[in-house]
Amino acid sequence: MEFLSLETQAQSNPERSILMIYTGGTLGMIRTEPGGPLKPLNFENLRKNIPELSNLSIDVQVCSFSPPLDSSDIGPDHWLELAKLIGNHYHDFDGFVILHGTDTLAYTSSCLSFLLKGLRKPVVMTGAQLPIGFQRTDARNNIITALEIASCYEDDKPVVQEVAVYFDYLLFRGNRVSKIESHQFDAYSSENYPPLAKVGVDISFNQAFLFNTPEKEFSYSQSLDPNVAALRIYPGMERGLEGMLMENPPKGMIIESFGSGNIPNEKGLIDFLEGLIKKEVPVLNLSQCPGGEVNQGKYQASKVLNDIGVLDGSDLSFEAGLTKMMYCIGNNNGYENICKAVLSPISGEMKDNGSKRL
Ligand code: ASP
Repeated sequence: MEFLSLETQAQSNPERSILMIYTGGTLGMIRTEPGGPLKPLNFENLRKNIPELSNLSIDVQVCSFSPPLDSSDIGPDHWLELAKLIGNHYHDFDGFVILHGTDTLAYTSSCLSFLLKGLRKPVVMTGAQLPIGFQRTDARNNIITALEIASCYEDDKPVVQEVAVYFDYLLFRGNRVSKIESHQFDAYSSENYPPLAKVGVDISFNQAFLFNTPEKEFSYSQSLDPNVAALRIYPGMERGLEGMLMENPPKGMIIESFGSGNIPNEKGLIDFLEGLIKKEVPVLNLSQCPGGEVNQGKYQASKVLNDIGVLDGSDLSFEAGLTKMMYCIGNNNGYENICKAVLSPISGEMKDNGSKRL
């Protein structure tokens, strides 16, 4: 990938250097005909619309997906590509900013938090609800502030040492966010983990909640197994499962249950899940509620899941649970090891319930 140097006010030996990776998304889109659809444009279009970039006193190098993509088309291969790009240049920059469409940003940020192990530098992802060329765009603030956060150092140490998402004046942990809004500017929420920073006149970091990796060395993984399926639980679903043969099941299954992990008492559904587990397909239980957590056995309606060996997903978001399953299957051998890995926190994506569920 080609790197382009942004012309900023940085002196020949600037204090900080940032690699900004432009993947596409609304922030760089344009309508080529009146009433036509929005399509992603190249980085030059973005740069022209943010003259403020040239006032920055940091060195910014830019590289771009070619062509830039609507994030609906970003998936596991791109996550690996981003991990490799950051991994290969980890020691060349003080921080990284990824510009990304908002639709699947939370999947990318979750997955990168697993692929980039022992991260001790900021990887700040952002996007926008309105294209950069629109008068009231949120892209300008989001990009400039993401760059500022990625270059925040104290005592020569980066303040943020994890994959984070900056949007609408808040910084979130990357594996805790979900897109909850497609119309207002506050597109993301992180129901189970407080914001890492609030941005007003100053950037106020929530120091106690920033991640500190236990790993000694930085490394990045290039293994993911996207052969994972997800099933949303709904009343009366056993009838819909009839005839759904699982001769060639996926390697992992996510279920999205009610409330704190409950499912209907439907024999067809329970047999279906048990059949998967007997074939050594790990089944992970996540809640349809964005806030709170799964607690299998709290109600009679979830006790059966413990009995048949479904994994309790605790307070994982759907995006983090799904990408974690892909990561754990790709990086562990054997059913038992995969189950153990899924239940163990990696990068602050879930609370540590210790041996409770192991
Ligand atoms: N469809 C766009 C995307 O995810 C939406 C956005 O960026 O806000 O690329």
